[in-house]
Amino acid sequence: MDEITHNSLLGLQLPELAHLVEEFGQPSYRARQLFEALYRQRVESADEILTLPQDFRRRLAEKGLSVGRPVIERKFVSSDGTVRYLVACADGQTVETVWMPEGDEGETGDGSDAGYQSDVMARTWQRATICVSSQAGCAVDCQFCLTALLGIKRNLTAGEIVGQVCAVLSDQGVSPPLVRVNLVFMGMGEPFLNYDNFMKAVRLLVEGVGISEFRMTVSTAGIVPRIYDLGAETVRPKLAISLNASNDDSRSRLMPVNRKWNLERLISAARDFPLRNREKLTFEYVLLDRVNDSAENARELVELIRGVRAKVNLIALNPGPGIAFRTPAQGRVLQFQNILLSAGVPSFVRRPRGRDIYAACGQLKRTVELAPAP
Ligand code: SAH
Repeated sequence: MDEITHNSLLGLQLPELAHLVEEFGQPSYRARQLFEALYRQRVESADEILTLPQDFRRRLAEKGLSVGRPVIERKFVSSDGTVRYLVACADGQTVETVWMPEGDEGETGDGSDAGYQSDVMARTWQRATICVSSQAGCAVDCQFCLTALLGIKRNLTAGEIVGQVCAVLSDQGVSPPLVRVNLVFMGMGEPFLNYDNFMKAVRLLVEGVGISEFRMTVSTAGIVPRIYDLGAETVRPKLAISLNASNDDSRSRLMPVNRKWNLERLISAARDFPLRNREKLTFEYVLLDRVNDSAENARELVELIRGVRAKVNLIALNPGPGIAFRTPAQGRVLQFQNILLSAGVPSFVRRPRGRDIYAACGQLKRTVELAPAP
């Protein structure tokens, strides 16, 4: 896997760049120059790094070393301002990255983005969220998710994960920390099945690109051992867990991963997760009409997560071809939410973003055929 992109500079940490610079017989401060150029300035080619002597740039090219940033191949713009990017890696593998201006209620998680004005949004958004992919395809096979239909193609490298963010920031012409950018690792793939590359990308995004880890959220389908690993990290995103069911029976049917790590183990990991000051865990719950959205399910959910410092993001199913479930009516969604709220569980109904261009949760499928051309 590493072979594909080991010629990329993007994805290398400062010590790795220092090593490289030394191998080329260059002074050690060149490592910092490279680091700044790759992550802060976000160059697309080494030729743009004017702080480096021409001769050094030429020798990098001769050795086959390039920036290796994934390339934006297609771009679909939704009527709500969301942009879905089809991004191509060096080996031709494509993934999707989504740009959501003006927050996104659910992903940000606390409902603080509710003051959304669609008529002026295109020009006046104050912040944005980028939804990042961690794998090409996915192995987890959740029954309601379009990405699952692809199967797993491969893990993304740290450079490819960071590169999605760099490509989208450059396309949008924004630079953190000047502009408030949130990241959610909720695109294609299961980040916790590509844990090391994912965490390396997080550190580069914090140290290099300049996005605070407190503005990042990673979502997992429930890879329990990695939840403990994440809790032990000194620098880490916030954690979201895709629950999607209120009992084992239902969850094992909807998410086969539950047969490996059941709700008891998953909720134990959630309870054990060392939350920081004022931090909350997020549980995501996709509502499927008459499958997991009854009043009884809501009460079961309340009991299941009792005592966990958490909020619940409710997502009414985003439909897609080949998905055998229906979207519940608004009334059922609100009934479900009200039961949680009455029990004192903070819960939010996530507004779907970019459904018309297949950019919403569970709709990412590396697809050009599903959405109308812009
Ligand atoms: N694999 C990770 C990261 C992907 S996040 C995870 O499962 O958490 C994608 C989120 O979208 C998950 O919370 C998932 O439950 C949700 N989702 C999947 N398919 C969906 C659909 N069709 N409609 C709405 N949400 C969906």
